[in-house]
Amino acid sequence: MKVPYSYLDEQFAEPGSILEKIRATLLRHHQYTFGPELEEFEEKMARYTGARHCLGTSSGTIGLTMLLKAVGVGPGDEVITVSQTFIATIGSIVAAGARPYYVDVLDDFTIDPKLIEDAITEKTRAIMPVWYSGSPPQMKEIVEIAGRHSLPVIEDSCCAISAKIGGKHAGTFGVAGAFSVHPLKNLNVWGDGGFIVTNSQEVYEKILLLRNHGLKGRDEVELYGFNGRLDTIQAIVGNHLYPRIDEITDRRIANAAVYDRAFSSPGLARFITVPPRREGGRHVYHMYMVLAADRDRLLAHLIEAGIEAKVHYPIPNHLQKASLEQDPPFGRTGLSKTEAQCRSLISLPVHQHLSDEQINHVIEAVGEFYLGRERG
Ligand SMILES: *Cc1c(COP(=O)(O)O)cnc(C)c1O
Repeated sequence: MKVPYSYLDEQFAEPGSILEKIRATLLRHHQYTFGPELEEFEEKMARYTGARHCLGTSSGTIGLTMLLKAVGVGPGDEVITVSQTFIATIGSIVAAGARPYYVDVLDDFTIDPKLIEDAITEKTRAIMPVWYSGSPPQMKEIVEIAGRHSLPVIEDSCCAISAKIGGKHAGTFGVAGAFSVHPLKNLNVWGDGGFIVTNSQEVYEKILLLRNHGLKGRDEVELYGFNGRLDTIQAIVGNHLYPRIDEITDRRIANAAVYDRAFSSPGLARFITVPPRREGGRHVYHMYMVLAADRDRLLAHLIEAGIEAKVHYPIPNHLQKASLEQDPPFGRTGLSKTEAQCRSLISLPVHQHLSDEQINHVIEAVGEFYLGRERG
């Protein structure tokens, strides 16, 4: 039995209705950027997340970069964040002209709030927690600390559409949050794309400028910006999928719950560590990640069994060449937990198109690796 990691062939197996919408819309107005469908998408995502404003962006990464610039982050500044994240978090900080300051994570792979306060210096200009793999960070504590130091919180909620803590959506705790609708995220379009949400009128107005070359109207440049818009075509795909966000996400959450139960059983809990799931949190499992003993051999065993397991990511950001070559090196406090996690993290297929049989096959293959070996 094959258990693929990607599901795009199934999700978009019948693209006819989307293509028809694109055809009908574009034949009508030919607004390939800034079409009315973009506004529709922005209204939908603002309503969905409960944020006052939403603006489509050309990617999650550019959304983060523009937000950092919008709150005044620039050369000489430091942004406190984690090393335990996708490279884009760090890339967005560097693209804004600033430097990341890495702090360690909790057992659930999100930033350890207790370490933030000690990392704050006169250079700190913002804090960027990551909803890593769709898991909620301790936002209440983080926002409190930031408030004490008058620092803006920019949420990397790029893989956390529909994720919440205490009933409140990702991206709405800090000044703003950036999301991605890249094909592998839980709401996905047919290429790169993203959006930002914010309750701040000031940030909203800055992003309006920043994402369109800093242009006010057609001819006047207020400040230097980006080409950071979401294409009309991608907004059409996003609008088409919008009614299914909850259903898709709930399916992934249900799949993860089956894994959690199986891996917490007395036999497997000796080998697999399921990260703590925060009470009142809605973890959306952009990735289903656990810590596994003898990870690399488990990975090989699963691949042998037709299961497309993956490692996200074997090398943490602070040990990447690009980071190591900085002079002076990026600041950091002890990252022992991040490094230990990177040695044993494994990601299992968790997408909404998996059948019960496929999920059972994964669980059986994991059991066979650890317990079959023991018996034999
Ligand atoms: C996907 C992702 C990004 C980047 O989003 P893009 O749309 O691909 O630019 C940033 N941060 C995290 C945590 C992500 O998962």
